[in-house]
Formats: sequence, structure tokens, C-alpha cells
Amino acid sequence: MSGGTVRTRPRAWDFRCDHCDHTYRALADSRTAARCTARLNGWVTDSTTLCPGCAVVAAVEQQLLLPGKATG
Ligand SMILES: [Zn+2]
Repeated sequence: MSGGTVRTRPRAWDFRCDHCDHTYRALADSRTAARCTARLNGWVTDSTTLCPGCAVVAAVEQQLLLPGKATG
């Protein structure tokens, strides 16, 4: 094989929501790039993985559970 630019094919990275059975598949060269794609699509990929719907629910629940943090 001669040299030249070797283009690696992006692989599929699956993100599964921790709260429901939604999954998101991103095609990317690295997990970091896949995470960026998922986040751009509304997914939370921090310590927990949440689909866009569950992320909204979790955010609302978090606000309700924080006493004295209500914003006027
Ligand atoms: Zn979900």
C-alpha cells in the first residue's frame, strides 16, 4: 500500500437514555465528536445520558426539588 491520506471511516457511537429506551446514534471519528453531535441534538451526555425529552423533565424536576431557588 502506498501512502497518501488515509481517511478513517467514522464509526457509530450509541447513546442510550438512562431514563427511557431512546437511543441516539452518531457517526463520528471519536467519542468526543460523537458527544458534540449528541449535545447539539439536545442530548445530555454528562454523568448521566438523557434524551432531549428526559433532559427537559429532569431540569424541571431539579428546579422543583431545589427549595428557595425559585426565580421570580
Ligand atoms: Zn429519555
